[in-house]
Amino acid sequence: MAVPKRKMSRSNTRARRSQWKTSAVHLVECSNRACRKPKPQHVVCPSCGQYGGRQVTEPA
Ligand SMILES: [Zn+2]
Repeated sequence: MAVPKRKMSRSNTRARRSQWKTSAVHLVECSNRACRKPKPQHVVCPSCGQYGGRQVTEPA
């Protein structure tokens, strides 16, 4: 396993971490033809409760 040769300075660590940013959630249209609401990818639709054409949960 590769191991760092030298300890990284605190300022170097902090300079790298200062570039950490959050990004907006990628929303896709619900595949349910009757719903078509935007939802996060690979997640059960919160409005109709379907995933991959199956009823997984009860809609809220
Ligand atoms: Zn839906």
